[in-house]
Amino acid sequence: MTGHFLLLHPKNPAWAPASLAPLLDALKAIGFLGAERGAGRYSAGPDYLGLITYLGCSPQIALGDNEAATAIRIAGIFEVPQFVQGGNLKAPRCPQCRKTLHKPAVSLEAKGELQCSHCGHAASACAFDWRRSAACARLFIEISNVFESEAVPGEALAACLQQAGGEVWDYCYVRKAG
Ligand SMILES: [Zn+2]
Repeated sequence: MTGHFLLLHPKNPAWAPASLAPLLDALKAIGFLGAERGAGRYSAGPDYLGLITYLGCSPQIALGDNEAATAIRIAGIFEVPQFVQGGNLKAPRCPQCRKTLHKPAVSLEAKGELQCSHCGHAASACAFDWRRSAACARLFIEISNVFESEAVPGEALAACLQQAGGEVWDYCYVRKAG
C-alpha cells in the first residue's frame, strides 16, 4: 500500500497481546474503529476525530467508507518483532550516548545489529531511537492519509490502548512508495 501513514505500536517490541479480540472490541467501543472494509481493515469510527489529534489549522481529512477515505489497518500479531521503515527514515540516535548516527544505507531487519560510530555501543536496530520514522513491534495499527507530524494519538486513545493490554503504546510516521 502506498501513501503516508501514522503507525501506533506497543512500545515494547517483544510484547503482543494473546489475541486481538479484546483490543478490537475496546477500539470499537470508543468509536475509533468503524465498519470493517476487509480483513483487518476498517473505516474510521464515529469518534475518530476526537481520538486522533490533527495539528494543522485546516487538515484535509476524508472520512467515511469510500476507498480514498482514511482507513485503519491492523497488522499483526507477528511471531517476532518487525522493523517497519519507509522513505522518510531518519538517522537514528544511539540509546547509549544519544548522538546521531549516519542513516543506514540498507534496509534493516529487527534482528539486524547497528553499532554506534561515536561510542561503539552495539545493539539491535529496535534499540535505537529512530525519531518517529520507524518502529519495531509485533502489532501495528496503521492509519492511512496522515502526513509526517500531521496528527498524533490523543490521550483517550492512548489510555484505551494501554488499558486493553496493560502496555504503553507509541507511534511513528512511515511513508511507503509502492
Ligand atoms: Zn553511541
